[in-house]
Amino acid sequence: MKLFIYIVSIFFLFNTLYSKDMKEEQIKVAYTYNFMKNITWQNETKIDKYRLLIVSKNKTLENMFLMLAARKQLKDKNLEVLVYDEKKDYKNIHAIYIDESFLEIYEKLFFKYEKENTLFISDNFEDKKQVMINLLKEETKITFEINKANILNRSLEISPNLILLGGTQIDVAKLYKSSQDALKEQKETINTLNQKIENKNLELTSKVKAINDQKSVIDTQTKNIKNYEQKLSIQEKLLEKQTKLLEEQKAQLEEIYKNIEFQKEKLSNAVLDVNEKEKVVESLIDLQKEKQQEFERAKKDLEFLNLQIQEQKKNLLLKEDVISNQKNIITIMALLSVIIIFLGLNGIRQNRLLKNLSQTDTLSGLYNRRFMNKKLEEEILKYKRYKTPFSILLLDVDFFKKINDTYGHDKGDFVIKKISTLMQQNTRDTDISARWGGEEFLILIPNSNLEGALTLANNLKQIIENTDFTTKEKITVSVGVSTFNENLNQEDLLKLADNALYKAKNSGRNKVEFA
Ligand code: GH3
Ligand code: MG
Ligand code: MG
Repeated sequence: MKLFIYIVSIFFLFNTLYSKDMKEEQIKVAYTYNFMKNITWQNETKIDKYRLLIVSKNKTLENMFLMLAARKQLKDKNLEVLVYDEKKDYKNIHAIYIDESFLEIYEKLFFKYEKENTLFISDNFEDKKQVMINLLKEETKITFEINKANILNRSLEISPNLILLGGTQIDVAKLYKSSQDALKEQKETINTLNQKIENKNLELTSKVKAINDQKSVIDTQTKNIKNYEQKLSIQEKLLEKQTKLLEEQKAQLEEIYKNIEFQKEKLSNAVLDVNEKEKVVESLIDLQKEKQQEFERAKKDLEFLNLQIQEQKKNLLLKEDVISNQKNIITIMALLSVIIIFLGLNGIRQNRLLKNLSQTDTLSGLYNRRFMNKKLEEEILKYKRYKTPFSILLLDVDFFKKINDTYGHDKGDFVIKKISTLMQQNTRDTDISARWGGEEFLILIPNSNLEGALTLANNLKQIIENTDFTTKEKITVSVGVSTFNENLNQEDLLKLADNALYKAKNSGRNKVEFA
């Protein structure tokens, strides 16, 4: 009878489950009720009522469960339906129905009631490992699956009829194996990933090391560069200083060169001057000596006269011949005045001599260079005022050194003197001849153009050539001629004559050339 009712009820249940009119919630409630019916809890005899916790947001479902509890008993005991409130803590719960709307807390609840003797009925939960009985919604029907292992783990017993209800068993072993495989695969993936990470780490470390090495190289190079830069700037500064110093020294050197040139010129003038002055001094000393001797002689004469006067005085005193005494005095007076006049004349002569000495050259008797320079200045002034032409001749004895070397210095002096005399004899009184240097002579020819000057030059050259100087070889001169004009100054005029002389020397000597 009991079995019959059971079969009828199952038949009824299946009918209702597949009835198109049946609501989804109704099916889920019917399933839950039947699942609980086919489960045995521990010490079930002691249970006074079964407590079912509904975890759902579906109000219809809740109401249907509440209606079920109100209308039906479970295994001849009351069924209490509790609606889940997250703030509450539930104990002594025999079954929990948790639907799709609350699946996010399924896991939490599943592990919370781990130690309890609680059946979990889930709706569409995907993780098969964590389900006990799980409803599955297919296109036209709702089926369920059972994870026996999980049910037994919670010390619940399952009636074999439960399978008859149409559920499928979850193959836990297969599930375990596949999850193990998946785990293994994941581990392998993790291992390979770890390996890759390790490789990458190694790569990274070596790269970091390389970068660090390069950084330190760059650091040292930067330091080196800085050092070089510093050294360079120091050297640049040094160079600048040295360049400045060098420029200063150059300027100083130039100044010194100028000074030397100036001093050289001064010296050459001074040497000439000194030579002349020496000669002047020598002649002055001679003159002094001469004068001294004259004085000595005059003194002696005076002393002699004094003695005579003394004697005459004595005679006069003795003879008391006043008249003859006076005569004698007059004679002495006359003598004294002669001496005084003589001495005065000597002074005048001395002055003239001094003047002569300051403008003449002692060896040749010609005018000296200083005097000639003055005369040239005067002549240029005259030219500027009256435009009177004038020319100069510059004569230089040819191979004079050889004369000195062959016949001695005195012979050389003799030649200089003789040529000077020839020059004086063969020029006009208005012409001025001077000894310009050692064996060099300058003749200023006032009122003369180039033609006149050339005539005189050739004439003199010829006379000197024809003169016998009592030497084996003929003595000749070379002559340079220049004429003054308004574009020249004194220096230019002399330079032109010198150039012409140089030309005459170069074209074989004993020549006259003009500029
Ligand atoms: P050049 O034909 O090129 O003029 O030959 P040079 O031998 O005449 O050469 P230079 O004019 O240079 O020689 C001049 C010489 O005259 C040098 C010097 O020893 C000599 N000298 C200069 N003054 C005097 C002097 O007052 N008396 C003597 N005896 N010789 C002098
Ligand atoms: Mg000469
Ligand atoms: Mg000379």
